[in-house]
Amino acid sequence: MNTAEYNFFIADCKKAIENAKDVNIKFNIDDITLKTFQNYSYARKIAANLRQKNINHIDELLISFEKKFNESGAKVNWALDYDSLSEDIIKILIEKKIKEVNLFESRFIEELGLLKILKNEEIQINLQSNNCVIFEPNYAISQTGSLYLVFNSAIEMEQVLSAKMKIFVLPVNNVLRNIEDVELLSKLYSINKNSEEYLPLTAFYSVKENDENNVELFIIDNGRTNLLESKEHRKALICINCDACKKVCPIYSLIGDMPYNNVFTGPIANVVLPFLETIDGYKHLSFNCILCGNCAKVCPMNIPITDLIIANRNMFYENKNIDLPDRYRINILKKNLISRKKLNRAAWRKEFLMKLYVKRKITVKRAIPKFAKISFSKSQNQ
Ligand code: SF4
Repeated sequence: MNTAEYNFFIADCKKAIENAKDVNIKFNIDDITLKTFQNYSYARKIAANLRQKNINHIDELLISFEKKFNESGAKVNWALDYDSLSEDIIKILIEKKIKEVNLFESRFIEELGLLKILKNEEIQINLQSNNCVIFEPNYAISQTGSLYLVFNSAIEMEQVLSAKMKIFVLPVNNVLRNIEDVELLSKLYSINKNSEEYLPLTAFYSVKENDENNVELFIIDNGRTNLLESKEHRKALICINCDACKKVCPIYSLIGDMPYNNVFTGPIANVVLPFLETIDGYKHLSFNCILCGNCAKVCPMNIPITDLIIANRNMFYENKNIDLPDRYRINILKKNLISRKKLNRAAWRKEFLMKLYVKRKITVKRAIPKFAKISFSKSQNQ
């Protein structure tokens, strides 16, 4: 297909999606972006570049953050995954004789299964307590050794900042070089997540003098360095979890969270879950996408989500993560799709091939769509 044909094809897909009665896509932040930014697409470009630069130098930023943070006397703890984190957290709670914790839910805290860890050790959860809190900061700032915290309410802010013992858990990719970088990223997050210009309650937190024994920070990988290894896939690490991509995904609006069986859901989850979890358990997500491109279009960090989904598909194919019969079918489809001569064949022949190679496996409950009598390319030349 040439570019013009492809654009027609995508426009038709979009029309079909918009007309599907169960699909409900409502996401329009034009008014608020006009109010907040002189040039929204330029702001997105700047934000994506600065976050990408941070990710490309993440080793350097983490080392300098640790150095600054440690100057306060508090310590950065590094955890590779759920198991090492759970061991270390429980050790700290036992040492400090803490029997009750205020756990602030976040997607990362859910991903780590912290509630389960605490319950297993019979540690009580008390959402009113400011004795010991576990909280996920949004970013660590390398330049200052401080943490950027975002709160949902004034009570939450009060509980965290006044807690006697503070345990922070941070995903390894959320480190920024400069304090100035926070403003732009927060605005983009707030606009896309809540359709609000600003996040109402935020704070930069640095460990106070004489408080160093009451603050623990865990920086956790949990599979993120698997994404870092690939130059292409590391683009997914600049995600700010704003959920804009979810709001415009026709597939997500039909299937929702449930089929993911994970705290990560939506288009970006299709890209990252095979890396954060297992390829076999999550590779199918990369094949449920219709590549409409809505997600990449709205992503404030300009993450090329559909390109990354295609990269996943290629990677699974190249690495033989796809079953042999499916690899065989893909090969047949590829041979037929890249040949103009084959695409121009009579409709009955294409339908016959589809039934032979695809129907039994993929469309058990659905009929194979009818092919047009003449191909799109032929119809344009008539
Ligand atoms: S991929 Fe983009 S749109 Fe989706 S959650 Fe991340 S930053 Fe937001």
